[in-house]
Formats: sequence, structure tokens, C-alpha cells
Amino acid sequence: MTVSKSRKPIVAGNWKMNKTVADATDLVNAIKRDLAGCKEVDVVLCPPFTALKAVSDLITETHIDLGAQNMHWEKNGAFTGEVSAEMIRELYCHYVILGHSERRAYFGETDEIVNKKTKAALEANLTPIVCVGETLDERESGRMTEVVQTQVRGSLKGLSARDLAESVIAYEPVWAIGTGKTASSEQAQEVHALIRKVIEDMADEAVAQSVRIQYGGSVKPGNAAELFGMPDIDGGLIGGAALEARSFIEIVRAAI
Ligand code: PEP
Repeated sequence: MTVSKSRKPIVAGNWKMNKTVADATDLVNAIKRDLAGCKEVDVVLCPPFTALKAVSDLITETHIDLGAQNMHWEKNGAFTGEVSAEMIRELYCHYVILGHSERRAYFGETDEIVNKKTKAALEANLTPIVCVGETLDERESGRMTEVVQTQVRGSLKGLSARDLAESVIAYEPVWAIGTGKTASSEQAQEVHALIRKVIEDMADEAVAQSVRIQYGGSVKPGNAAELFGMPDIDGGLIGGAALEARSFIEIVRAAI
């Protein structure tokens, strides 16, 4: 990285609805060969629920961490198809992705819902990775700042300064997810600085300087170093390129 930062970078692989247990096992074994001892970057794997146990077992005694891709805000009850914070914690998840744009778009997740999930995750000692980001239409119509600010404030509403500082925010412009179009490092930096300013307004400067803000959206080995070198970008949330060991390892290495 070109800029020295006090925050430890975090690179998380969001596998989405990909990888059976057998595929996940192969992928984790390949990732482990290079990254088992990685201490400079927090490396997080977020497989689908069905592969959490297998991945959890494979990464014990490594520095690699586990994350889920979603959870419900209630502790238990009649919520068919859902899982709770305690259930994923039991599998040694330390992280959970919340409010991904696919959940917002296809499953109707609002800032209010993301906020309830974020609070429930923190209460269960999980670190939430809270996703925000504007659509192409919102950017082109000049509403990017308003949209991102509203998502950050709404999703993180009512969190204590400590909980805010320990949360991770992922800035993922919707137009860059899975499209091959990456935000330029300057475009991404501008929004990361904006998000940090919102956190400063919600808490104080120390909290804003502590919170880690990842970039996500078509990150690849070829563009990762430049993005991660920007002053307010603390690593990445990786989709497509996390499904293959070589590209994921190279992206993690770019964050060191
Ligand atoms: C994502 O969905 O979180 C993501 C960043 O996907 P991709 O890297 O494929 O754009």
C-alpha cells in the first residue's frame, strides 16, 4: 500500500449463493496454503450458510476468519428460512454481512431492517459488515451523497460510539457490483471520505478514524492495490474474484 494507515485492512470474500461443501473445501484448502498465517490483513471468508460449518472446521488454527452473509434480528421464533446471530456465532462466525445491495434490491431490506440486524449482531458479539452504495441512476441524477448519507445514518442509527468504531462499513456502488465496472480510486476515495465524515458527525473524530471502510465492486488483482492505497479505503469486500483462490489471494496481498 502507498499510504500508511493506523487501521488494519480487512478483505472479505462474499461467495454469495455459490459453492457446495465440496467446492468450498477445495477453495478453502487452496486459500489456506497462502493465507493461513496472514496477520497483516483481516481475511474473512463468507460462504453460504450450508458451508459455514465445513469452512469453520477448515480454518481453525489459522488467522482466517469466518463471516455469514445475512441473519435475522430476532433471537429465535417463527421465521421460516431464517437464522439468528446466535446460530452463526455457534459456528464461530465473527462477522456478518448486512444490507448487501442484493438483499436490499431482491429481499426488500430497508435501512430500518439493516439497523435492527446491526444492533442484534453487535449484541451477539458479531462484527457487522454494513453495506451501502448508490445505484447508477442515483449517481447520475446527482443524489449519490444524499443516498449514501441516508443509508449510513439509517443503518447505524442509535449505535454507541464503541459499537460504531467496531463496525465495518462496505461502500459498494451498485453499478460496480458484478458488472466489471470499478469505481476509479478517486471516485471511491471521495465516497469513503464522505462516509467517514458522516461517522464523525454521528460520534466524533476518534470513532471516524477507527471505523474500517471497505470498497466493494468488481475488485480484481489488477485494481486492488490502487484502491486499497487510498487514504480512507481499508480493504475490500470481494464477490466474483473471491470464488477463485489465486485471485482472492492476490487481492489480499494487495492490501498488505
Ligand atoms: C459484492 O457483491 O459484494 C461484490 C463486491 O461483488 P463483485 O466483486 O463481484 O463486484
